[in-house]
Amino acid sequence: MEENCSYCAEGALLDAFGIKICELPMSKVILFKEQSHRGRVIVACKQHVDDITDLSREDRIAFLEDVNRVAEVLHELFKPDKINFGAYGDTMHHLHFHLVPKYRDGYEWGGVFAMNPKERFLSEAEYGELIDLIRGKLTRE
Ligand SMILES: [Zn+2]
Repeated sequence: MEENCSYCAEGALLDAFGIKICELPMSKVILFKEQSHRGRVIVACKQHVDDITDLSREDRIAFLEDVNRVAEVLHELFKPDKINFGAYGDTMHHLHFHLVPKYRDGYEWGGVFAMNPKERFLSEAEYGELIDLIRGKLTRE
């Protein structure tokens, strides 16, 4: 737990770019507020580690299982043509994956997704709808 880390501390730090949807066994699932790619989320590890190589094998498997579970739900809900995965973390030293649904002939299709294009933000009601959809699928067994 790092008090200056968005993913550990949450609160205002997280609020700057995301909204927590729910927790999975090894991760926190966060809706990315910038929604140029409908359904874009972040899966952040519950442990404050810099890289996936810092996790034990057991924790790494659990974390990637969560990433996979979220990807399945995004496919089911939003029917993207591809999901791009990005783990950059040059300046954010807490392991997290961006899961970015891409749509054929849509925004940035065929290219690299921008970290934060700051082009498309939603109303609180629209964020609420997306969160309910995703949480509903992730928390049902
Ligand atoms: Zn952290």
